Amino acid sequence: MKRITILGATGSVGSSTLDLIERAPDQFSVEALTAHRDVAKLAAAAIRVGAAVAVIGDESCLPALREALSGTGITATGGAQAVIDAAALPVDWTMAAIVGTAGLRPVMAALERGGAVALANKEALVSAGEVMMAAAGRAGTTLVPVDSEHNAIFQCLDDCPPERIRRIILTASGGPFRERSLAEMRGITPAQAVAHPNWSMGAKISVDSATMMNKGLELIEAFHLFPVAADQLDVLVHRQSVIHSMVEYVDGSTLAQLGSPDMRIPIAHALAWPDRMATPCERLDLARIGRLDFEAPDMVRFPALALARAALSAGGGRPAILNAANEVAVEAFLTQRIGFLEIAAIVGDVLDRYDPPGPQTLDAVLAVDAEARALARQRVKDCAA
Ligand code: NDP
Ligand code: MG
Repeated sequence: MKRITILGATGSVGSSTLDLIERAPDQFSVEALTAHRDVAKLAAAAIRVGAAVAVIGDESCLPALREALSGTGITATGGAQAVIDAAALPVDWTMAAIVGTAGLRPVMAALERGGAVALANKEALVSAGEVMMAAAGRAGTTLVPVDSEHNAIFQCLDDCPPERIRRIILTASGGPFRERSLAEMRGITPAQAVAHPNWSMGAKISVDSATMMNKGLELIEAFHLFPVAADQLDVLVHRQSVIHSMVEYVDGSTLAQLGSPDMRIPIAHALAWPDRMATPCERLDLARIGRLDFEAPDMVRFPALALARAALSAGGGRPAILNAANEVAVEAFLTQRIGFLEIAAIVGDVLDRYDPPGPQTLDAVLAVDAEARALARQRVKDCAA
């Protein structure tokens, strides 16, 4: 039996993880489930899987959680520190699926604890890549990537030395506005932006996919996870989302991982790794799909991708600033305070105005994150005025 904890259990990735473990109850037992405010969903899931602990990040929701779990024997806790404490409980495997840098301290606690950490929470790695990878190295923690592209790359990497890798190619669906002009993108609404053509995901990452900031964050994520230089990472638009990414070796061989666009496939890989487990996911029917298309990304219509590429090359605190400004701008777009094209404009502006020395510790990363957020909030106010 694998003992597991799910951070962000009520979200899209968290729910897909629960779906898989509920199909294999004899293989997994649940220590802790965490959420931010969704008491009803958290309590229902904790009862279904018999979790030992359920944690709600927003402490004001704790009385409601206690009431929902009364008589079940499940321990209810609340507050940001309680989420971190839950992440540090001894388990074999943790799913890190909180959205945003809100997940950074919990993910660090899980990395420091050891075992295996399945990482979906890309914003944490983008902001604090060096600090997180060093912590994983110290504790001997295995980081198994869950993001479909990185999970694909993880599967395509063989045991040969890193210098035999020529390139890593991250595929991108191009999002719902792949064919729109910049002028057409101006009036896009949150509802249009979260309607991804291939994947069903949380609101934030759906907007990131629409601006292609998601692919930019993924370039930075790949840089930290895999032994390649920034200029060995390429993006290829592949609208069908069948090939999830590729690794090209020096001999000219390119290995790809394919599958239906269902997050339960990479999550199952991470759950069972180094073994494999069955899933109910749709099998890939290539004869029905018929063709796979590829094109180069358009950095002009998708300036967020260019900003992320530049932040990756510059390194230091640039990725943390990019990520923090983007989180604020996406939230402002989702609450209709700014337009779609203003997301990348705000991120670019914050990057122009703020250039601190590269943060070396977790606290320093969080300080850069906080300052970048403050600048981005000011820009949101200016836009809304
Ligand atoms: P969702 O928005 O669906 O879920 C986010 C989860 O995090 C929820 O459980 C939410 O709780 C919790 N949460 C939100 N804010 C906080 C906070 N401040 N403190 C503690 N917990 C919090 O996101 P997704 O599942 O879509 O994505 C999760 C992560 O995985 C993101 O980093 C995303 O980029 C990455 N990812 C997602 C993919 C997908 O297919 N969805 C694919 C690849 C990567 P509550 O429900 O109570 O608000
Ligand atoms: Mg992805």
